[in-house]
Amino acid sequence: MNSRTDLRLPAEQYFVEKPKKDLIVLHHTVGGSARSTFDYWRTDAEHVGTAYIVERDGTVYEVFPPECWAYHLGLKVGPIGVVDKRSIGIEIASEGPLLERDGKLYAFGRVAEQTLYSGDVFDAGAAGFRGSRYFAAYTPQAMAAVCELVDSLITRFKISRQTPAEHSTFDLNGLRNYSGVVTHCQLRADKSDCHPGMAWEKLVAECDLRTTTHLDIKASAFHTMDTKAARRRTCELIAE
Ligand SMILES: [Zn+2]
Repeated sequence: MNSRTDLRLPAEQYFVEKPKKDLIVLHHTVGGSARSTFDYWRTDAEHVGTAYIVERDGTVYEVFPPECWAYHLGLKVGPIGVVDKRSIGIEIASEGPLLERDGKLYAFGRVAEQTLYSGDVFDAGAAGFRGSRYFAAYTPQAMAAVCELVDSLITRFKISRQTPAEHSTFDLNGLRNYSGVVTHCQLRADKSDCHPGMAWEKLVAECDLRTTTHLDIKASAFHTMDTKAARRRTCELIAE
């Protein structure tokens, strides 16, 4: 893995406290390059960013230490930042959703010579995904780097080696206490990252992830209850 630290946010632009990490959240940037996203964060005073940006060529930029945190989820659940703190964000540099006009595809929602898109495309089909049919495909090099990065972070931070079996459905209630690997569109209904073209099967295989179903997630949320109540609740869940 080609990991670099030459795009580095100054310490006043993220939170230097080191909360326990038990979640990895994958995003895509909707940007021209890792550097353009980094430059945008650097001018932003709101402590917004992720610890990593993965460029299309597979270069991994560590923007700040993954033990620290910044806002990257924008969840309207309290307390503010509770899920941002416990998670490590990874942005995949990508144009994101593409706009079709007269048989051509354009990035960033603008039809212009500069936004004409010529890379590989993921087609979500006629029904589309979160309002768009076409998306920039994630490159094989970026996917390989994401797999390697996720695997190393899971080991380093002792994060559960698991991911929900279904990756395109919004389920904040089911996932707000989840430990493992998720993506932004599962936590926000208005986000399209990461789109269903993401190589989940490769990630699951290479990181040796267990895939969890909704029932597993619900049941794990009750681990903190006393055993009797948890057993009763689990029975209720199975009865649903
Ligand atoms: Zn996102």
